[in-house]
Amino acid sequence: MTHLANHIPGQQPHLKTILIADDNAMMRRLFQHTFAHGHRVVTAENGAQALELAERERPDLIVLDILMPDMDGHEVLKRLKADPCVSDIPVVFLTGMTEAGDELRGLELGAIDYWIKPFQPAIVRARARNYLELKSGRDALTQLAFQDGLTGIANRRAFDEILDHEWRRARRSDEPVCVILADVDHFKAYNDTQGHGAGDACLSRVATIFQNQMQRAGDFTARYGGEEFVCLLANTDLNSGAAVAEKIRAAIEQAALPHGASDVCEVVTMSFGVAACIPEELPTPQDLTEAADTALYRAKHAGRNQVATMGEECVQRAQCLPYPHRSGREETARRAENLSSDPGPDRQRRHHGGQAQDHRLLHLSAGPRHGLQCRKP
Ligand SMILES: [Mg+2]
Repeated sequence: MTHLANHIPGQQPHLKTILIADDNAMMRRLFQHTFAHGHRVVTAENGAQALELAERERPDLIVLDILMPDMDGHEVLKRLKADPCVSDIPVVFLTGMTEAGDELRGLELGAIDYWIKPFQPAIVRARARNYLELKSGRDALTQLAFQDGLTGIANRRAFDEILDHEWRRARRSDEPVCVILADVDHFKAYNDTQGHGAGDACLSRVATIFQNQMQRAGDFTARYGGEEFVCLLANTDLNSGAAVAEKIRAAIEQAALPHGASDVCEVVTMSFGVAACIPEELPTPQDLTEAADTALYRAKHAGRNQVATMGEECVQRAQCLPYPHRSGREETARRAENLSSDPGPDRQRRHHGGQAQDHRLLHLSAGPRHGLQCRKP
């Protein structure tokens, strides 16, 4: 869904793509011929087309002619550098302008090299190889920076970037964005009784289940930190998001990872908070994540192993119960106890000042502009 998708675990590495922009058809053909083997070459006839292709194809190298009608190579490069989605793609000028001043100007604008026409194919291929390797190395580092070391799925940093990108995209298209925040129930107790090795294995298993449930191209999941996981669903409203969360909740429960120290269930379970909005309803994407966090808090407080949505009390009750050895009365008593028990030190810490957050949500729901259903619990 974004340039990051190329760096996120599970995405296929692609054949290196080179974009060439030149208004001269013969030059484009010559270049295509030069890189015919082992590369994918896409060509643009003018600057506007080059920008469009750069955004869509996310090439590994861009070669720009300088003298083109309407928009020259310098202007194209300036615009590429101003767009964070493509600004890290190396750009080379390929030109007949041979003055030292021209070359300096190109390099100062951020071009990585300056190739003079007519070019020697072997030399240009060797130079391009260097830049492609440089980019591969950088991409690998980027991937590490955006990958969770334990589970191998994306990390919070990747989520934040993708949410930001998706938020801007959804604002343009006026589509809802949905965030699901989920937390393993009583994970501290799991670690304490089963050991940290088992705890790590449990988180890896949970990560795989989340990953498997992300089925559409616009779905994205990450480890949010500790035992928390997050999903971003593009063009998804609150009800659809809650349905996805419920599917994941059921899948976690069905995985039947034994959890002897949980008072919710005999197996590992998770609580879910779901929030969705179209971007104009909330000031920032972080507000959407916070709304999901507030819903998650409610799911925890209402007994865990359930899905709560933004502004609603828990809408999906746990199906985990009853277990044969527990009588119905024991279950009722246990659930009542859960409802009154605090949701754990972790969430208390996170929700220190939770009153203020609820006020904020109330405030948001009060404005006629905001279509949110948020209300005070
Ligand atoms: Mg030209």
